[in-house]
Amino acid sequence: MTNPKHTTTISGVTYDISDFMRNHPGGEDLLILASGRDATVMFHSYHRDMEKVKAVLKRLPVLGGTTKPNTLETPLYSKLKQRVNKYFEETKQSSKGGIFMWSKSLALLVITVIAYYFGIILGWPIVCIFLGILMAINGLAIQHDANHGSFSKYPTLNRVAGWVDDVIGGSSLMWRHQHVIMHHAYPNHHTLDGDSFSNYPIMRLNPKLPINQWYLRYQYIYGPFIYSFLGISYYFTDCINLLHKNYLHVKLQPLRPIDTIVFVLGKMLHFLLFVIVPVYLHGWSSLWKLVLPLQLVGSDFLASCFAVSHNTKEIEYNLNEDTDWAELQIRTSANWSVHSTFWWLVSGGLNFQIEHHLFPGVCHVHYPALSKIVSQVCSEEGIPYTAYPTFFAIYSDHLSLLKKMATWKQE
Ligand SMILES: [Zn+2]
Repeated sequence: MTNPKHTTTISGVTYDISDFMRNHPGGEDLLILASGRDATVMFHSYHRDMEKVKAVLKRLPVLGGTTKPNTLETPLYSKLKQRVNKYFEETKQSSKGGIFMWSKSLALLVITVIAYYFGIILGWPIVCIFLGILMAINGLAIQHDANHGSFSKYPTLNRVAGWVDDVIGGSSLMWRHQHVIMHHAYPNHHTLDGDSFSNYPIMRLNPKLPINQWYLRYQYIYGPFIYSFLGISYYFTDCINLLHKNYLHVKLQPLRPIDTIVFVLGKMLHFLLFVIVPVYLHGWSSLWKLVLPLQLVGSDFLASCFAVSHNTKEIEYNLNEDTDWAELQIRTSANWSVHSTFWWLVSGGLNFQIEHHLFPGVCHVHYPALSKIVSQVCSEEGIPYTAYPTFFAIYSDHLSLLKKMATWKQE
């Protein structure tokens, strides 16, 4: 028997997915993340009609293993999926982005290009700060959905929209590994969620990490400034990760030529737009007068939106691996400003963090409706549903958590 090119394991059984790779309705970019690893979490969290996808699974060549129970096939997650499926059936909507999502994304891209013209080409410093925030919003409201496969029902459109991350200085390839494989599967786990430990020892965001540094007691003061350097640090660490073919402890998917091409072109384009062009037009001083403020403000805004959603005093850390997976997502995530249209659009639905973690394959335009369903189920099941009334409220609690995290130890 020849060695299959791509295999994956779901609930204990290993499948040959080589031939299915190009036929996966959600696209090759997501399925290849499952190659060579256990994809039980991705399989269950990205699919809501389990009977339908299990029928597809049955047709795949089995290479070995026996079916194991998992924490994703539980009464709670089934109930949530059933209610959400009913919502989409009754409203006759696709769970992916449609005309509204594409129109607002196009409008955002046009505004960003105009801001680039005034900020970088004409050299207006104040517009550069606005451009930094706009780039962060592109990351939140376009690339985030696209790289989750929820921007559109067309995988090619998701792939192209996902490249927005490469243009704004990140990497769609690295993001899918860091965010989809590590963070979404195991939020707030001290060894499995990179968001929870990769800042350490500069910052301590998990109570199971060691406390050996005197300066951590001040992290609630310097933390927000550290967030400002996220974009600049990603630019370089992405390159190191590509050379090592790893993202922290996660092996990068079997790299295809397109992954490397997009990565290299993306880094070159970002360097051209945000180093070569401003230096050519305005001299070396433009790097700290125009580009640095843009990078710092944009990164701070972006990182703050992500950080607050899983780091407040009301939510939980390092839940037992036997915990019902849906309950774990709810207990480790926090919503904010759920009645604000502004925050819903600007944060790309990250203010509905609970719904996003339960249904990462659903476009954020549906989260306000889903939040009514999820909060109702939480109330019926007696599970805490954490929602802060404003961004200011969750950010204040985030700073309190940073202060608490300087001394809080969890065994
Ligand atoms: Zn996400």
